[in-house]
Amino acid sequence: MAAPYSKDDDSVVVIIGSGAGGGTLGNELAQKGIDVVILEAGSRHEYEDFINDEWASFSQLAWTDARTTSGTWRVAKNFPGLPAWIVKAVGGSTTHWAGASLRFQEHEFKTLTTYGKVDGANLLDWPITLQDLAPYYEKAEAKMGVTRTNGLPGLPGNNNFKILEAGAKKLGYKECHTGRMAINSVQRDDRNSCQQTGFCFQGCKWGAKWSTLYTEIPKGEATGKLEVRPDSHVLMIEHDDSGKVTGVVYADKDGNKQRQKARIVAVAGNSIESPRILLNSASNTFKDGLANSSGQVGRNYMRHMTGSVYGVFEKPVHFYRGTTMAGIIQDEAKHDPSRGFVGGYEMETLALGVPFMAAFLDPGAWGREFTTAMDSYANMAGMWLVGEDMPQESNRITLSDTKDKHGMPVANVNFDDHPNDIAMRNHAYKQGMAIYDAVGATRTFPTPPYPSTHNLGTNRMSEKAQDGVVNKHGQTHDIKNLFISDGSQFTTGGAENPTLTIVALAIRQADFIAQEMSAGTI
Ligand SMILES: Cc1cc2nc3c(=O)[nH]c(=O)nc-3n(C[C@H](O)[C@H](O)[C@H](O)COP(=O)(O)OP(=O)(O)OC[C@H]3O[C@@H](n4cnc5c(N)ncnc54)[C@H](O)[C@@H]3O)c2cc1C
Ligand code: SF4
Repeated sequence: MAAPYSKDDDSVVVIIGSGAGGGTLGNELAQKGIDVVILEAGSRHEYEDFINDEWASFSQLAWTDARTTSGTWRVAKNFPGLPAWIVKAVGGSTTHWAGASLRFQEHEFKTLTTYGKVDGANLLDWPITLQDLAPYYEKAEAKMGVTRTNGLPGLPGNNNFKILEAGAKKLGYKECHTGRMAINSVQRDDRNSCQQTGFCFQGCKWGAKWSTLYTEIPKGEATGKLEVRPDSHVLMIEHDDSGKVTGVVYADKDGNKQRQKARIVAVAGNSIESPRILLNSASNTFKDGLANSSGQVGRNYMRHMTGSVYGVFEKPVHFYRGTTMAGIIQDEAKHDPSRGFVGGYEMETLALGVPFMAAFLDPGAWGREFTTAMDSYANMAGMWLVGEDMPQESNRITLSDTKDKHGMPVANVNFDDHPNDIAMRNHAYKQGMAIYDAVGATRTFPTPPYPSTHNLGTNRMSEKAQDGVVNKHGQTHDIKNLFISDGSQFTTGGAENPTLTIVALAIRQADFIAQEMSAGTI
């Protein structure tokens, strides 16, 4: 059989979503000769169509369908309809992402063992270790061309990095460099090297930054075994009397309902939409939604501890020139409870354009304090703080009463910070400001978290079926031919940006699916 596939073909693997998890899994399976249909809710924009303008690019690529929020987090107040910044397009959020690609640390797979019980947190050890994932991290780094791995040079540091590095030295930090980035530092994989244009968040028009849109997907398509169907919004997954999944129902470009049959379904819609699809697939057999015998679908939503710090300097910095994430300090990523919290955090340079800075510097702010800050835009340096947040059962995705244009209930995102998240953020703000103060900042601004870019944990991996949704291969505990292939599998979040781990897990899962298919067990 070869692409395109008939909707009645029940031999195909259907993957929902074409981002880091889904796009990678699709290519990996196609390379093994397995027939794959990726259903993607968004449209297909090639990189020459990307727009170097923040809000116009956001309208082109981001998920702007309705979502609702609840809980005490500040995002629910500042951006109630936009809990997360996620993409709805072929390539998923790998079109928007910055490219930071870090491995988890060993202890981050064993948080319950390492941190002990933390009140209010639903900590659990992953059913896999760093050693289990190491060979797949290697494959992911090679595939994505991560700098500082496989002999690839680091990217050059821009002014934003030079300030970060100078401040880091003053504070005695040792682990500061221009990052491990899935951005070509040299021409490779038939793609350009980075031109330092600074529009990484708007989709890289040069194709230098790895995205499934122009790496995994065309490679998979070239085998003839992968069909990507854009503008196909999956509404629910269907199953037979034995409980095995049989296919999905989706709305096509014109809003008409279609049914695609499947031998296996892999859900990779990112951590808000994936549980939404499982919950919306409730049936007489599975009254609480698919794969939800543990009641854990949608729970333990994590978004990373985040926040930003901006510093103003006497002379121009022009931090928007060069890669958006141009460098990192890793010294605080360790677990050192003497700081007053468990887990750790990274400090990564960040630059926003004027339109985003006006919206995010201090949402809702106005008056002299705010306008003088904006006047200093050219003289700013900036960093993003990203650390491990605590999984909590009550931080969860549920189906809202509001419905989308297809009649599907939208996702509600409920979130409260855990005291550990707050203690870590306060520590990170203090250190971030100290870095800029140490090199002569005239003003510093700690900035509250933006809508979530790292969305994790809502279908978590667990050794035992009662503790989570999927096993160590991302296969649901309840249904053998139903898989989860995105960041919602994460048992805990680690301090590191998650995409390298999502890609490594997808490569590992493809091996498992191929093996089980040939053994005839699924
Ligand atoms: C601005 C920004 C910067 C970032 N920077 C970094 C970084 O530097 N490093 C890092 O590690 N991570 C970064 N991230 C996060 C990273 O992009 C995500 O972690 C990663 O892409 C998640 O992969 P995923 O497969 O879970 O989901 P995604 O890549 O988001 O893909 C999900 C896809 O599923 C589709 N989908 C959802 N629901 C349905 C449905 N019902 N039917 C069909 N399709 C559906 C969506 O349209 C989307 O295309 C960043 C994200 C953003 C937004
Ligand atoms: S700075 Fe580099 S990675 Fe970022 S958009 Fe420009 S060329 Fe692409």
